[in-house]
Amino acid sequence: MQRMIKEITNWYKENKRDLPWRKNKDPYHIWISEIMLQQTRIEAVKEYYQKFIKELPNIQSLAQVKEDKLLKLWEGLGYYSRARNLKKAAQIIEEKYQGKFPKTYTEIKNLPGIGEYTASAISSICFGEKQATIDGNVLRVYTRFYNDNRNIDERTTRKEIRKELMNFLPNNPGEFNESLMEIGETICIPKGTPLCKKCPLQKNCQAKRKNTINKLPVRKEKQEKQEKKYTVLLFCYQDTIIIQKRKGKGLLENLWEIPNVEGHLSPKKVKELLKKEQIIPQKIEEGISSTHIFTHQKWHMISYKINLTSPIKEKSLSLNIIKKDYAIPTAFQPFIKEIEKELNQKTLERKIV
Ligand code: SF4
Repeated sequence: MQRMIKEITNWYKENKRDLPWRKNKDPYHIWISEIMLQQTRIEAVKEYYQKFIKELPNIQSLAQVKEDKLLKLWEGLGYYSRARNLKKAAQIIEEKYQGKFPKTYTEIKNLPGIGEYTASAISSICFGEKQATIDGNVLRVYTRFYNDNRNIDERTTRKEIRKELMNFLPNNPGEFNESLMEIGETICIPKGTPLCKKCPLQKNCQAKRKNTINKLPVRKEKQEKQEKKYTVLLFCYQDTIIIQKRKGKGLLENLWEIPNVEGHLSPKKVKELLKKEQIIPQKIEEGISSTHIFTHQKWHMISYKINLTSPIKEKSLSLNIIKKDYAIPTAFQPFIKEIEKELNQKTLERKIV
């Protein structure tokens, strides 16, 4: 085993990708990158990470940032509660740890938004604590290496594998954890054929020997996503539209959105709705439709462009201001883009005339 650990970590030293958060072992940097990387591809995260660190270079700036600015920096990454938890955790670090990142797994795990995986990653990579990181990449490499057909979606399996890995951890646990994750991300890939010929584990890999690579890891059947229909209402006046904070509990809770109602409304129903709200439109036009896929839901959205005769006080905002200062979830971005396109076209036509 010792020889294998050495082989893996040597491979990592020679082959690890040059990523912006790997420039040092600053726990603030590792923390931000790990939270961003949950459910998002490395390539997509790089740009977000660099902008975030430039704007909020340390715990202090994160603890004091205004929520709208924080969410704007997070716009497009989704899961906005993660950004809010980052700020809450930074405030706790400021108050309880005098602004210094806590060093132990237990202290780190007690911070809002930090689970077992992130606490293990930060404590092992930045402080050398012997904690095993278990993510999808590690589980894939581990179950293939041992030809292990336990279901990795079961909590007990994850717990057992973590415990087993804890027994192997060398004196450089952070590097070992990162090596396994890197193999999972770049060599023992989830889709397509793994690049076994480049893998430092190939000599002893059981799945390779038994030809079971494609059957592993074993997972639960994926649940069908809940399908939802929405009608998006774009209230336009000159270069302004209306945005509002999403009410109620659940998806996109308390985030900025374009007004919308559940269901696909006919033009007649839209007119009735506006009448009820005492809104007199100048014109109503059918707009684009769009589908957005969340982790557990699929939204099918149609839209109407409702031209107003005057702006609605305090609610109508110019598109430029929205783009600059407000975080609008990705689900609504196609509608913003459509309105922007129309406005640009009008400006062009005016110039030509
Ligand atoms: Fe994965 Fe192939 Fe390496 Fe085994 S040898 S761990 S299947 S990449």
